[in-house]
Amino acid sequence: MNAGELLSLCKRRGFIWPSFEIYGGVAGMYDYGPLGSVLKENIIRLWRQAYRYGEGFTEIDSVTINPEAVFKASGHLDEFSDCIVYCNECGEPFRADHLVARLHPNPDTLDAKSLKELIREHDVTCPECGGTLGDVEEFNLMFRTFIGPGSSRIGYLRPETAQGIFVNFPNLYRYNREKLPLGVIQQGRGYRNEISPRQGMIRLREFNMMEVELFVDPENKTWPRYPFVKEEMLRLIPNDGVERVMSLDGAVREGVIANEVLAYFIWLTKDLLVKMGVDPARLHFRQHLSEEMAHYATDCWDAEVLISYGWTEIVGIADRGSWDLTQHAKWSHEDMTHFKRYDEPHEVEQKVIKAKHSKLGPRFKEDAKEITNLIESCQAEDIKDGALQIEHNGKPLTISDEFFEVETLIRKVSGEKVIPHVIEPSYGLDRIFYTILEHAYHKRDDDYTVLKLKPILAPIKVGVFPLMARDGLDEKAQEIFRLLMDAGIEAYYDDSGSIGKRYARMDEIGTPWCVTIDYETLEEGRGKKDTVTIRDRDSTKQIRVPIDKLVKTIHTMLNGVNFESI
Ligand code: AMP
Repeated sequence: MNAGELLSLCKRRGFIWPSFEIYGGVAGMYDYGPLGSVLKENIIRLWRQAYRYGEGFTEIDSVTINPEAVFKASGHLDEFSDCIVYCNECGEPFRADHLVARLHPNPDTLDAKSLKELIREHDVTCPECGGTLGDVEEFNLMFRTFIGPGSSRIGYLRPETAQGIFVNFPNLYRYNREKLPLGVIQQGRGYRNEISPRQGMIRLREFNMMEVELFVDPENKTWPRYPFVKEEMLRLIPNDGVERVMSLDGAVREGVIANEVLAYFIWLTKDLLVKMGVDPARLHFRQHLSEEMAHYATDCWDAEVLISYGWTEIVGIADRGSWDLTQHAKWSHEDMTHFKRYDEPHEVEQKVIKAKHSKLGPRFKEDAKEITNLIESCQAEDIKDGALQIEHNGKPLTISDEFFEVETLIRKVSGEKVIPHVIEPSYGLDRIFYTILEHAYHKRDDDYTVLKLKPILAPIKVGVFPLMARDGLDEKAQEIFRLLMDAGIEAYYDDSGSIGKRYARMDEIGTPWCVTIDYETLEEGRGKKDTVTIRDRDSTKQIRVPIDKLVKTIHTMLNGVNFESI
């Protein structure tokens, strides 16, 4: 299949629409239509279930416009850019690394100077008009705005939701009763002013993220549930480029994945994506090369999927070390540490300076008290060549060791302050949405499309059809439609066209089951129990169930029980 076929289905059936289409559209912007909004919501629900309910993480919802200070601290103002080049003739802008994609194995790791050289060396010209290209420059991807009237307070639309979590660390830490690990999730919009988005939903200027920030003790990167999954297999491409299928534990022991927490969340990501309908045969995890790593990361693995645009990153799982909290502590002067309490108090040696009163009194008379205080506020490290330099009455004064001595004390300390490390699985919702659709897209015959969406994600769970729109069949079908909707099962009533056409319409949007109300349904009065047929999308088989068991049957299947075993 090609992406165009799927995008046209998405548009026709109301999954997604290019934004502002009546005004000619804006590249890199899509709106979610009625079916798309529900599918998107269902994806978020599964993600939330995995992290909030599965791992016990907390969720927040922070603002999307941030003051400049946040991105000075995070490094986005200096580092978050792509290289841009304009055509000298037609003025079209291009991402410079995209223009040299065939000339270098990893063009996105090159800086502006190397890209410029490569373009000159190979006489690369404008792909639109064949014109010559100008200089390569850095282009910051953040959207800039002003907070309040005037232009004094610069703000930026957030390029990731993560910063909203980092800047709230002191609040979150208190909320978690000052304990680690602390897992926080946030879902919402991110904004990146991409230079030339041309790949449908893959590169958007306004997009949706589901981010997870897990704060851990830097010396204890383990996870309680790791032992239960450590023998599970992962398809990995480490930074040596050689693909390997390894167990989590094998990968950690051989140093392929840096630690157990990172390995666990790579596995959780795989498990979640497969539950969402991503084909495991078209999914692997690729480690970033050191030149490719974001400015904040110490290790990073991308979940990549094979779609019609080629292998594409849909989730990034990074060990961000202490970068974010260290930076925000430095710029905000707030305490971003965790107090790590020892199991038993530790005894530590401390050297303190004691003034010799018997010597200071005769020598300094009425100033002795003040000089005593100045001496005792010095540290042992301040002693140089056996003397201390202090300032008294605005003048420097050298105090030789005849006036003080160094005592060694033993103190008990109950813990130490550490800056937590951050493990971040960052999910690109729109790319996951698109991948799920592509991997669910099947052709039964040349012109018959079935979207084999996982029932739990399907925007509509049940199509409800009266066999004919007469003889009371339609009224009974309306009753059943209401019954399902009241039970929280998204249903769709349709009485127009042949049954075959109605099935086809539902198959094309991934509805897993269709319920038909026929003349047998109306036979209760004649001694039979009310029944309807349920038709299964994937096998096209049908079963008859009593109406009073319908809701329970659908719920059972939504909980994962196969149609064949009902
Ligand atoms: P990053 O912070 O760059 O690792 O991005 C995290 C995730 O967001 C990626 O794995 C993508 O799935 C998604 N993403 C990043 N940039 C875009 C974009 N311009 N359009 C759509 N999704 C994006």
